[in-house]
Amino acid sequence: MITTRFAPSPTGYLHIGGLRTALYSYLWARKNSGRFLLRIEDTDLKRNSREAALAIEEAFRWVGLSHDDEVVYQSERFDLYRKYIQKLLDEDKAYYCYMSREELDALRAEQQARKERPRYDGRYRDFKGTPPEGIEPVVRIKAPTEGEIAFEDGIKGKVRFKAEDVLDDFIIARADGTPTYNFVVAIDDALMGITDVIRGDDHLSNTPKQIVVYNALGFTLPKFYHVPMILNPNGKKLSKRDGAMDVMEYKRMGYMPEALLNFLVRLGWSHGDQEIFSFQEMLELFDPSEINKSASAYNAEKLLWLNAHYIKNASYERLLQELRNFDVHVYDHDRKEILIDALRERAKTLVELADMAKAILYPPENYDEKAVKKFINEEALEILQRYAAYLKISENPLHLPVDFEEVTKAFMKEHDLKMKQLAQPIRIALVGSAVSPSVYDVLSIVGRDEVIARIEKLIRRFKNR
Ligand code: GLU
Repeated sequence: MITTRFAPSPTGYLHIGGLRTALYSYLWARKNSGRFLLRIEDTDLKRNSREAALAIEEAFRWVGLSHDDEVVYQSERFDLYRKYIQKLLDEDKAYYCYMSREELDALRAEQQARKERPRYDGRYRDFKGTPPEGIEPVVRIKAPTEGEIAFEDGIKGKVRFKAEDVLDDFIIARADGTPTYNFVVAIDDALMGITDVIRGDDHLSNTPKQIVVYNALGFTLPKFYHVPMILNPNGKKLSKRDGAMDVMEYKRMGYMPEALLNFLVRLGWSHGDQEIFSFQEMLELFDPSEINKSASAYNAEKLLWLNAHYIKNASYERLLQELRNFDVHVYDHDRKEILIDALRERAKTLVELADMAKAILYPPENYDEKAVKKFINEEALEILQRYAAYLKISENPLHLPVDFEEVTKAFMKEHDLKMKQLAQPIRIALVGSAVSPSVYDVLSIVGRDEVIARIEKLIRRFKNR
């Protein structure tokens, strides 16, 4: 059975790079009816890891990912790590090292003078004498001193490290007894039964060390997939400004979670030239061995384009629900479908959708100055006044909604007017600016009485100025 994991360090929120590897791990596990686990790597950081886990789970809930089992906190597993450190000591696969800070510094200085890679020289590896006094020892693992550490990466292919280039007897427990990063990652992945490790390739250089731990403890190696980074459009590391922010920030900016997942799955993986992937399709088609070998560039336009696509195709119910999250409550509006359809064609984000909905649903408080200057003059006010009067007498005894297209056309014919004399002044009266969806749609969403009220308000405001 395939078991994958997402193993964030608790930075307090989930950023999109993390969400992408989580998504890849999730898809690969679920596609294979396997398991997807969540582990919080909180051994080093003092931040509250519960909060971090809650933030991650909140983001997972928003995008619809779920993990199996309880969350694993490394900070709760120190006894376990200590047990494995002891095991390695007992088996003579690890040893205490009593080197002082000064000695380490001196060694480093010598190596630098010889232009060598700074590394531990193994001086306590086979030490049998009496330990120096007053030094709390660290524990070092016996790593291979020659030969190769090689593994088959699911994305990069064969990866080889020369032991002498990347390894030394690295520390697995600090002087205070706490275990080190690469040691605990290897122990946890092995004990959690992780078969496939999918993670950022910034961790590639950790992998040989983790393999040393696996080998020393006789654990079976997982399959590794090291995913190339997401870069900004200039090929630099993605910064907050480029989009490397809290996933929940995307929610606040009005992105649909499906758009974000679709964006992320394509950012580093492709299936022919298909751009749109439903969740089901992602599950069916995703394969980590097809992840691109080179870094991918974050493309904000593409994300907006996808978001617009998902807004256009969402159900009414869904968009009404999303609007509610932005404080627009239109459940009971008798024209809500017309409203949604009029807006969804123009909105790239839910924030835009909500703002446009508000502009239509509530009378304008201000009028766009430029639009007023251009379109509102005595003649326009006169026309609006007549139009409002016309709407008043066109009252329908059965209280059926007014067919604004029909009524408006009849009005124009009667007064020998053109649509362009009427359209912009009406828009300004209704929404405060000259940009809005189709005038007929806006008229019918606003409704006869409110149309009249908004026209009268505009007239009061600008008549005889
Ligand atoms: N905790 C690491 C990080 O947040 C991930 C470690 C891993 O996936 O092996 O970058």
